Amino acid sequence: MVFAATRRQRVPAPLRKIVQVSAILNADLHCHSVVSDGTLTPEELAARAKANGVDLWALTDHDELGGQHRAAEAARAVGLRYLTGTEISVTFADETVHIVGLGFDPDDAAMTQGLYDTRGGRGKRAQEMAAQLAQVGIHGAYEGALRFVGNPELISRTHFARFLVEQGHCRDTSEVFRKYLTEGKPGYVPHRWATLRDAVRWISGAGGLAVIAHPGRYKFTANEEYALFTEFQAHGGRAVEVVTGSHTPAEYVEYADKAREFGLAASRGSDFHSPDESHCDLGALPPLPAGLTPVWELLADRIR
Ligand code: AMP
Ligand code: MN
Ligand code: MN
Ligand code: MN
Repeated sequence: MVFAATRRQRVPAPLRKIVQVSAILNADLHCHSVVSDGTLTPEELAARAKANGVDLWALTDHDELGGQHRAAEAARAVGLRYLTGTEISVTFADETVHIVGLGFDPDDAAMTQGLYDTRGGRGKRAQEMAAQLAQVGIHGAYEGALRFVGNPELISRTHFARFLVEQGHCRDTSEVFRKYLTEGKPGYVPHRWATLRDAVRWISGAGGLAVIAHPGRYKFTANEEYALFTEFQAHGGRAVEVVTGSHTPAEYVEYADKAREFGLAASRGSDFHSPDESHCDLGALPPLPAGLTPVWELLADRIR
């Protein structure tokens, strides 16, 4: 007993966990599970990330936090470092822009409510998309897309794309987004998402860090893109995706320059959705270009 008491006295107070991070870490901070429009579960993604050599992972389901506790637990079980994540749909200058949030409290009430509201219009939008497709002879698209949906609150264009491929209307989902579901094509329904200000505030308010997702994908003029970056920063946004599955190597260079110009940190993420659809697998991206601040260096104390 005396020995046990002595030992107990020697045990220091619990240390705050300090995680060492480095710029060359294989970080993959953007992907999707069945909780939004991916085809793998959070557990399957954690296993795949680990097998692919990922060191630091974040699951970033669209407008949803429902997979966060599962992902963090699965990451812990396979020995993977984890940051909480989401990808918020935003309307800016009449375009849809995606803002990734990283390292926030996944139980934050304001963010949970904001994302719930953001998801709210998806059901009606999906019915309208199906009505448009019916006009070009494609019937039953709503019910058909629903069969691919893992989360009833999150029916997305990706689920319609899977239905159109299944029915033989297109060879793959890339062809779907060239022929359907995009502006000027059958099945496109414009939608008003969250504001840039709200998205950045929800993330920052929950203790996280906001990141402009895949900026190379937006069809903005130079002025509109400048406005996006300046307004994002004015609202408290801190980083931009530089190396992503959605960028070409030329865009890695372009957005590395933008990150330096605006003094933003840089993120890296595959945007992996499915083994059958995604051309970029988890963890399979080049490192960030030199001379950038990796976003995970700003989030070292949020890594689990
Ligand atoms: P939604 O949030 O319902 O508008 O759906 C957007 C999702 O559709 C994106 O997150 C992608 O998963 C998918 N998507 C959009 N454009 C394309 C594209 N050109 N190729 C493949 N997938 C796309
Ligand atoms: Mn998606
Ligand atoms: Mn996106
Ligand atoms: Mn994404």
